Amino acid sequence: IAEPTATDKRVLLLKPRGFCAGVVRAIDIVKIALETFGAPIYVRKEIVHNRFVVDELAAKGAIFVDDIDQVPSGMRVIYSAHGVSPAVREQSKERKLKVIDATCPLVTKVHVEAIKFAKQGYSLILIGHRDHDEIEGTLGEAPDVTQVVSSVEEVQTLQVPDPEHVAYLTQTTLSLDEARDIIQALKDKFPKIAGPHSQDICYATENRQTAVKNVAHQADLVLVVGSNNSSNSNRLVEVSQNLSTRSYLIENSRAIDSVWLDGVSTVAVTAGASAPEVLVEDVVAYLKDRGFGSVEEVEVMPENVRFGLPPEIVQAIQSAP
Ligand code: SF4
Repeated sequence: IAEPTATDKRVLLLKPRGFCAGVVRAIDIVKIALETFGAPIYVRKEIVHNRFVVDELAAKGAIFVDDIDQVPSGMRVIYSAHGVSPAVREQSKERKLKVIDATCPLVTKVHVEAIKFAKQGYSLILIGHRDHDEIEGTLGEAPDVTQVVSSVEEVQTLQVPDPEHVAYLTQTTLSLDEARDIIQALKDKFPKIAGPHSQDICYATENRQTAVKNVAHQADLVLVVGSNNSSNSNRLVEVSQNLSTRSYLIENSRAIDSVWLDGVSTVAVTAGASAPEVLVEDVVAYLKDRGFGSVEEVEVMPENVRFGLPPEIVQAIQSAP
């Protein structure tokens, strides 16, 4: 097979891609807090799962910590977009911290559902990845009645006190296909299982996966810009691979191995919900330098979601001199 010529080589830039409304809001909260209250501002965990974003905010004076006990008593702390458990809120209260909550409203929705089901006496099955910050927070709402499952196989071994009184919820950033299979396995095992009013997987996760599904067949390679610990970015790679289009997760253009481009004429580029556009531009520039001269944006669906700021930040802005 002949190597594609420069005229054949093209980039398909998927849309929607990159930042979602919850990530924009969380980053804005840290920036406004730094401008309004001044550094240092503590942030529990990575505000969003992206190294570049975290480093940029750290350079402006944000101090990222893993645990609340690393925040000096009385200081200001921001909770990340992934949410926190009630135990973390309690710890903050004990340390007299001034809290600003950057939890994505769509994560809060899942917490509210968890509390409701637990109050109604359900055993709760949380579909998600045990080591993810979001699952740690949601699980903490009702730890005594909640079990986490991440595969159809795990569903088979589940045991609950009353199979007639079981409910499920999911992490917001799962693969739609995988979640559907796990939910079906749960419905087979517990035919009366209750679920959320509307799907917990968020609009941004769904739209980015749909865009990959629509375009992957036109590409020889799908590059997903995002960090290794970004759940929704990893799922985009899997969606492409499940459609038999080779795909890699890359932090930035330096992570691209030029060998990947051998014999490739069409590269589709997308980005996880926490990856900034500047890194996508960097990847496109890298590809242009290697002969991928045509860049075409493929908009699979419009996306115009925005979330308001939390009251602590709105009040701070209003009372700023
Ligand atoms: Fe919110 Fe979804 Fe973005 Fe997570 S990926 S911050 S749930 S909008």
